[in-house]
Amino acid sequence: MPEKVFEINKESLNFIEQIVEEDIRSGKHAGRVHTRFPPEPNGYLHIGHAKSICLNFGLADKYNGKTNLRFDDTNPETEETEYVESIKEDIRWLGFEWEHEFFASDYFEQIYEFAVSLIKKGMAYVDDQSAEEIASQKGTPTEPGKESQYRSRSMEENLNLFQRMRNGEFGEGAKVLRAKIDMASPNMHLRDPIMYRIKFDKHHRTGDKWKIYPMYDFAHGQSDSIEEITHSVCTLEFEVHRPLYDWYIKQLGIFPSRQIEFARLNLNYTIMSKRKLLQLVNEKRVSGWDDPRMPTITGMRRRGLTPEAIREFADRVGVAKRENVIDVSLLEFCVREDLNMRTERRMVVLDPLKVVITNYPEGQTENLPAENNPEYKDSHHREISFSREIFIERDDFELNPPEGYNRLAPGGMVRLKHAFIIRCDETVINPDESIKELRCTYFPESRSGQDKSGIKVKGVIHFVNAADAIGAEVRLYDRLFKVENPDSQEGSFLDYLNPDSLKVISDAKAEPTLKNAKPLDKFQFLRLGYFCVDKDSTSSHLIFNRTVTLKDTWAKVHKK
Ligand code: ATP
Ligand code: MG
Repeated sequence: MPEKVFEINKESLNFIEQIVEEDIRSGKHAGRVHTRFPPEPNGYLHIGHAKSICLNFGLADKYNGKTNLRFDDTNPETEETEYVESIKEDIRWLGFEWEHEFFASDYFEQIYEFAVSLIKKGMAYVDDQSAEEIASQKGTPTEPGKESQYRSRSMEENLNLFQRMRNGEFGEGAKVLRAKIDMASPNMHLRDPIMYRIKFDKHHRTGDKWKIYPMYDFAHGQSDSIEEITHSVCTLEFEVHRPLYDWYIKQLGIFPSRQIEFARLNLNYTIMSKRKLLQLVNEKRVSGWDDPRMPTITGMRRRGLTPEAIREFADRVGVAKRENVIDVSLLEFCVREDLNMRTERRMVVLDPLKVVITNYPEGQTENLPAENNPEYKDSHHREISFSREIFIERDDFELNPPEGYNRLAPGGMVRLKHAFIIRCDETVINPDESIKELRCTYFPESRSGQDKSGIKVKGVIHFVNAADAIGAEVRLYDRLFKVENPDSQEGSFLDYLNPDSLKVISDAKAEPTLKNAKPLDKFQFLRLGYFCVDKDSTSSHLIFNRTVTLKDTWAKVHKK
């Protein structure tokens, strides 16, 4: 079955680039382009963030601009320094370097001053009602909300109360600061949104200094302004927040950053919410944030994906204005394309079946040249060895072959890759009726590259030489979920985990050239797929992770 071909038009501008080019043409901000990537350090980055990173850094690269890394750390409960470090590592691994590294928490004092200035302008007030009471007065999109009884507090009283909120004089939830906008606005976000709440959690950077924290809407745009970000790219759910983003900037009279929304990346057969990914980690459904089945950047790195493949994927996904779901086979396609060019070929047998070549002299060994990567004309060669006993895949032998079967069968012939044609003369059966070994004859004049045998065979199979094969553990990964959209199923997303997402083969046989393979080294194992050396691998216990199979077989097997 031919692999799906994914088309991309790299010539035309996406809608964000159109906006940026218009701004450059009109001379806005003197043609300057400055973007930011604003992760909340409450988890590891995933492929959705990779899309956002490629977009933000990509825009800056294209228009000679700059990109800041800003940790959006305004929520002390969930944020940790471990995440800050992993985020930086992942961005650099993807191939990007930021202009400045900032933390929204660096701006707490400045943002506090912004709030004070809105209070002084009569545009913000302290509300003593509980979150529930405030929510119950919000109204609905068609009915206006109800104004709070605290809305008309004097400026002096508001200043005093806000200062005391900051001092920690009131308990969590006792008071909030709200913007005084319009309780009848058709946009619910403009119905006197909360600007600050009281929280006593310890912040990962500011510790106990702050007892009040700004809400996302009163921190994000303000941080953008402080950094003079020209184009603040975010996902679609913030579109309805944009009038509020603009309102704060206008009332404060600060740098007019511009928010632009695009559709977040959704991938089938996985989940991307950090909360749910954390749940998988905490409940040990996976081995950690870097489990090779996770959609995290660290997981994908361990699995053997390359930054180039992920960037190509992000490019092909493009930017959309409407929510959509991208087929994970597009990612796999990009990974195969990249690894095909990048990896050397090796032979590994996952499920070994011994073959004795009865006419090969005992004690003799010969070396045969094997191309490392046939994609290159001047591909280097390595030597593989051949002798009287070899291993082939159990799968490549069939006692009762169906019609058209072109691998090995009793009396049948097959070519061993890089070596000779063999014929199966005898099948040795165990007492339990399983196959113990095959006894074959080889044809010395059929040697690959100098075949004078005149024998025609259809099948070519891989093998390793039993005399020098080394043992290896091979981990075969598959999709983490068995359904396309685990998030919108009945019950918990955990009910839809794919029970076959990891299969461990502990006794594969590998050619000895793999002995010194180092963590993150990548190979194509002939006929099996692309593999990457696991971080826990050592030369005495080799571990390979399957990155991706050679072809997309999922649809064939699972979608009937
Ligand atoms: P989660 O809801 O899983 O916690 P988040 O969107 O809150 O994710 P942030 O750390 O706030 O995570 O995201 C940092 C940046 O990455 C934001 O600009 C956000 O819009 C962007 N981003 C997050 N997920 C995606 C996605 N699936 N596709 C594109 N961009 C994304
Ligand atoms: Mg967020």
